[in-house]
Amino acid sequence: MSGSHQGRNSKAVHAGLDPMQHRGAVSVPIYQCSTFMFPTAEEGAARFEGASDGLIYTRLGNPTVQALEECVASLEGGCGAIGAATGMAAIATTFLALLRQGDHVVATHPLYGPTHGLLEGRLGRLGITSTWVGAADTEAIRAAVRPETRMIYVETPANPTMDLVDLAAVAAIAREAGAPLVVDNTFAGPHLQRPIELGADVVVHSMTKSLNGHADVVAGITVARDPETLRTLRDTAKALGTTMDPHQAWLVLRGIRTLGMRVERAQANAALLAVWLESHPAVAWVRYPGLPSHPQFELALRQMDGPGSVIAFELAGGVEAGRQLMNAVRLITLAVSLGGVESLIEHPASMTHSKVAPADQLAHGITPGLVRLAVGCEDVEDLRADLEHAFAALEIGAAAASR
Ligand SMILES: *Cc1c(COP(=O)(O)O)cnc(C)c1O
Repeated sequence: MSGSHQGRNSKAVHAGLDPMQHRGAVSVPIYQCSTFMFPTAEEGAARFEGASDGLIYTRLGNPTVQALEECVASLEGGCGAIGAATGMAAIATTFLALLRQGDHVVATHPLYGPTHGLLEGRLGRLGITSTWVGAADTEAIRAAVRPETRMIYVETPANPTMDLVDLAAVAAIAREAGAPLVVDNTFAGPHLQRPIELGADVVVHSMTKSLNGHADVVAGITVARDPETLRTLRDTAKALGTTMDPHQAWLVLRGIRTLGMRVERAQANAALLAVWLESHPAVAWVRYPGLPSHPQFELALRQMDGPGSVIAFELAGGVEAGRQLMNAVRLITLAVSLGGVESLIEHPASMTHSKVAPADQLAHGITPGLVRLAVGCEDVEDLRADLEHAFAALEIGAAAASR
């Protein structure tokens, strides 16, 4: 079933699934199996040589994992994909596959906290250096490129500030530099943003978030634009053993089938809440790509099919008010992560980005009072009522403090 011309909802339902390859099964079976029989010694040798693409061993390839890889590659418009145990496994594999000692990376800030840590710490120790530039500053990205630059690594919308990277412009800079553009597309996901269509070379995902969408799996994936990069990435994933388990792949495939519906529902909720929050007296400011107040609102319209479901906001009462708000919500859950059917709230400075040094946090726009709200698929009236009740608790707290 060739589906490159299909719409993204059809791809989410059908890509990677050919029932005739699985005795007619309409859901890809879980090949819960570590190793595969060779019909003959000659065929076994051919598989190891690469002359046959038959199965060998699950770390090297598994039909359930392959179905998921085909599905996500199709959604992202890549030539193929490599499933990974977690999002960080996908990201680490990408770095170790494409970089070597002496190489230089231009990375935008802010990034997902552990990705920042990986580049600064472990890769730094291996002699790979990074220059950090603001996500929104395309000219600074261009200026940071050096002869030894071997990768431009970006996240857009950025976590947690919701700054955007102009993907088409940065892809042109990367092409000129002869360095691949790698995009962490976790926040928007392929339903809302397809970086490869805009010129990116590699897309990485934490499928823990919207692709799976049900807060019951951790998983990652790397998608490549061209077969040569795909081969390099796959060889590294096999060597490091960062590959994925078949049961995990099956769960993510099950989640992906409803990607469009979930993403659009959560986004509709987020759009309403963002407008409401922006007009609320307890809120100092709101950052959401769907609001005209977002400094890159025009870019969001240009490169995304929708602003997504994550809202960043700062309370008028700063850190203390944020702490109280997170303790006062009842329906919205105090937990990290995003992109699931449930709404989650967290405090980046003390939680997801706590390993980023305080000075770097400020430089990267992670203010002490910043709250990240990942909106889910509940009824928006209930989400608003929950926040309203929590804001009322803040006022009582503030009145008690001033007495
Ligand atoms: C969660 C996340 C990751 C890491 O993914 P894991 O599945 O938790 O390893 C990477 N990048 C972004 C933007 C994320 O939100």
